Amino acid sequence: MTLVTIPPRGSDTAVNEDDYCELLTTEATKTRILNAPGFPKPVPRLYAGQSPLYEVNMTPEWRLDIFATRKIKAGEIVLTERPIFGGPKVVSILQSQDPSFVLQTYEKIMEASICRMSDANQNIYKGLAKGATDGRGLLTGIRHNNCYAVDEIFDGHESTPLDHYSFVGNVASRINHSCLGNVTLAFDPLSFSLVFKAVVDIKAGEQLFYSYCEVEASIATRRRNLAHYGFICQCRVCQNANLESDEFREQYQTRIAELCTISANVISGANTSWLTNKEFEDLLQLNKVAIEEGLDALPSYRELLGALTLGYWKQGNGLKARDCFVKMQVIESIFNAS
Ligand SMILES: [Zn+2]
Repeated sequence: MTLVTIPPRGSDTAVNEDDYCELLTTEATKTRILNAPGFPKPVPRLYAGQSPLYEVNMTPEWRLDIFATRKIKAGEIVLTERPIFGGPKVVSILQSQDPSFVLQTYEKIMEASICRMSDANQNIYKGLAKGATDGRGLLTGIRHNNCYAVDEIFDGHESTPLDHYSFVGNVASRINHSCLGNVTLAFDPLSFSLVFKAVVDIKAGEQLFYSYCEVEASIATRRRNLAHYGFICQCRVCQNANLESDEFREQYQTRIAELCTISANVISGANTSWLTNKEFEDLLQLNKVAIEEGLDALPSYRELLGALTLGYWKQGNGLKARDCFVKMQVIESIFNAS
């Protein structure tokens, strides 16, 4: 493993001192990042001549949270930022029998990484939420509690979850969790930046939230996966969770897969009997609960909108069908292009 500054210092004189990312990586991954055609691009600046779409505000609990400054439409880019630190999600160099040696070595690597940052970025890093350290060193704990895993940067030849990288941002790492997240994240390797897009329409003054856990999971799994952040999610979905909502989540992906097959068969003409009034009612009910449960912010909601488009069209409601089709296109633009 090696520490490298991205973009390499001196390669781009336009880069501000605070706009570098310190990256813990392998020689092979470093070479792939630096040699990508077009690298490095500047971080996309969205706000030339206008105010940013977000502001950092102190909450009554003395936390710095992020709020929308104006109405933001689903699909709009809300925030772009070069992270201040990144590295493999799982640092495999630290495989060892002795956990305390592993933790100490990890902390030393983090110390070496932080030392390379500008003073401003060091202060930003050290000011981020500490969470529950679970025996980790302070700097390691901060990384663990504030990083975003991305699948666009990875070790090896294929993007598999164990080889993914994770990144700590400045404003980005202050976006709080909700199972009803209103922004999603993609990583742009060429500008080496985190890109957050609105997944639903966001009102002016509304807080920005990103889901740190699998939204489809049961309440017990979500709580377990969020435990190390040191908070219990109080979002509407968590407050209203019960056996019924867990069961709905458990079956949701199967029902979406079924709808996907039905839609394909209806379009190809293989299925001409879909849909009865009862099937249409079931479809509307599925959509209603999916929205209540916040599952309409997931990429798989596209399939549900596809079935609704066909369903409304079959029912002779062209207006509603077009509405669902437009929403489907927005979801495609959010998740298929970074
Ligand atoms: Zn929640």
